[in-house]
Amino acid sequence: MDIKERVEYLKDELNKHNYNYYVLDNPTISDYEYDMMFSELKEIEKEHPELKTPDSPTQRVGSISTGFEEYRHEHRLYSLDNSYNTEDLNKWYERITKECGRKLDLVCELKIDGLAIALNYKKGIFTTGVTRGNGIIGENITQNLKTIKAIPLKLFEPVDIDVRGEIYMPITSFNKLNEENLKNGEKIFANPRNAAAGSLRQLDSTITAKRDLSMFTYTVIMPDGNNTIKTHWDSLQYIQKLGFKTNPNIRRVKDVAGAVQFCKDWATKRFELNYATDGVVIKVNDFAAQNELGYTARAPKWATAFKFPPEEISTKLEGIEIGVGKTGAITPVAVLTPVLLAGSTVSRASLHNFDEIDRLDVRIGDNVFIKKAAEIIPKVVKVVEDEEHYSRPKYIPPTECPVCHSPLEYKDGEVVAYCSNRNCPAIAKARLEYWVSKEAMDIDYIGPSNIEQLYNMNMVKTPADFYKLTMQDFMMLDLVKEKSAFNMYNSIQESKTRPLAKFITALSIRHVGKETADILVNELGTYENIKNASVERLSNIEGIGEKIAKSVYEFFHDETNLEMISELFANGVKPQESGTVKSNEFAGMTFVLTGTLHSMTRDDASDKIKERGGKTSSSVSKKTSYVVAGENPGSKFDKATNLGVQILSEDEFLKMIGEG
Ligand code: NAD
Repeated sequence: MDIKERVEYLKDELNKHNYNYYVLDNPTISDYEYDMMFSELKEIEKEHPELKTPDSPTQRVGSISTGFEEYRHEHRLYSLDNSYNTEDLNKWYERITKECGRKLDLVCELKIDGLAIALNYKKGIFTTGVTRGNGIIGENITQNLKTIKAIPLKLFEPVDIDVRGEIYMPITSFNKLNEENLKNGEKIFANPRNAAAGSLRQLDSTITAKRDLSMFTYTVIMPDGNNTIKTHWDSLQYIQKLGFKTNPNIRRVKDVAGAVQFCKDWATKRFELNYATDGVVIKVNDFAAQNELGYTARAPKWATAFKFPPEEISTKLEGIEIGVGKTGAITPVAVLTPVLLAGSTVSRASLHNFDEIDRLDVRIGDNVFIKKAAEIIPKVVKVVEDEEHYSRPKYIPPTECPVCHSPLEYKDGEVVAYCSNRNCPAIAKARLEYWVSKEAMDIDYIGPSNIEQLYNMNMVKTPADFYKLTMQDFMMLDLVKEKSAFNMYNSIQESKTRPLAKFITALSIRHVGKETADILVNELGTYENIKNASVERLSNIEGIGEKIAKSVYEFFHDETNLEMISELFANGVKPQESGTVKSNEFAGMTFVLTGTLHSMTRDDASDKIKERGGKTSSSVSKKTSYVVAGENPGSKFDKATNLGVQILSEDEFLKMIGEG
């Protein structure tokens, strides 16, 4: 392809994706991929200006959709130029400080991933609200905007003013909307931005009113003649006083280093927010300097949008692999053409279960979107429904275990399939791997390949066998010399006295993870009590439902399991039951921990509560005695406030335990 053809190709592709994104609210590639094509086109046009045409997507801002009255903006709305790394930011800052001949203060704001809206007020009364459209002409959606509570209909002062902001849909509301739409067979939105756009462009504003939309205001165009406000920072304070909602996460910095730090701080912290952000907007604070710098055809020179590494990207689904977990659960895993996502190369992603594959209609060979949010394992979130998708055969789930070939079974109406053979080698190996993991018995130096060998050599078939191994046994493994053998042996001996909750976790009881094991131990105290508890006793514990209660009961009424546990005990495993309780200071009290603590981890805090005879719980209820709230507390904080539960700061908690 020569350069001219490449330009035509990029223009066609970008125009097609603009249409999907702005008009249909249904993008088929990720923003990152779009941005990469856009940057490439811009680069080529810079080097070959003769190839730049007025219809190039680089010359346009957004696009207009159809269905509403067109409205010509009094003040043009621009887009933003992007930066992707520290180098881009440094270059931008160097350029603007050179042009102005002085250092420039900056304001950093989160870039809300929603829709730009321009609002006009006359004498403090909301008159018109218009989408950005192509920056010159937008759509008049005043009626729909009037249904959004964060948009004041009347300001605290009777001013004539224009403001801009971003309409967004909170993530929890987006998930709820999609769940309902799924139930009713309606359209599923790809992300909160598309859901917000779709909700706003309803010709019937009663539908918009039903959707949970909000708005952060980020720009004001000061009325002519008003030159009392001289900086962007002050203008934000001003609009807040007029009654607009502004985003609280903003920072004024002295130079680009401060802006880089802000971007770093929010690269992961943003996942704790209940709205989507795709970057940080960095703006020159001083209005006079903004005027000196001015605009390019599509964006202000005095601002740049630092884009976070993509959370979502598309790649090809090469195949579906079937995994067998420690409880026998069958998990389909997507095998992908490797792709860079949020800083790491991803070649596998979760598909959860066969119902999920059916819901997404994933077919081998499809292009799929994968996403990595706060969770570590990426997941497949959407299929690109191109023409080829429909010509590929639908995925047919297997009916037997890929390892032992026993039939798969579905239990108690669960969507997860299980291998029906309790002696399946895949299950046994997964249990052994889990047994040594940090979350369970925390045995260092022994990894999956050692376990594979120990299993194949018939040396370890159940966890109890670990405790029968000698140093000589370990030296039979590949590449294991005396020192490693000693470390492995020692780690196993050390694990014999792990706390009871870790032991219960390590048993791989279905539906019982670390948190549930903690609840069981908190409530019942000893191994014998847990083993002998009836289903009724178990399901009366807060946080333990009937399904878990049954599973625990069945586990401890199964001969094979009990034999394995007796063997563990006979080989010296002696979980620590209540040795940790040192005082009764917190007896009868339940604590809930939320947010990030600075002086200790949440696990440490939980140990300190237990040492004093208290309990911890993962959910807030009227019975909760205290909620300990660290930085950026989650919804538990709001729930505690609503229920009137006393909230302690980290400092107050430290004082309470005598460490403050
Ligand atoms: P942009 O991402 O270039 O940034 C400009 C916009 O940022 C503003 O209009 C405003 O809406 C928003 N913004 C959010 N918070 C802000 C704040 N605090 N201050 C100022 N502005 C703020 O936006 P754009 O021009 O609307 O869209 C271009 C982007 O859209 C592309 O970079 C791409 O990521 C995406 N896109 C994707 C596809 C696709 O197919 N996936 C297609 C077209 C566009």
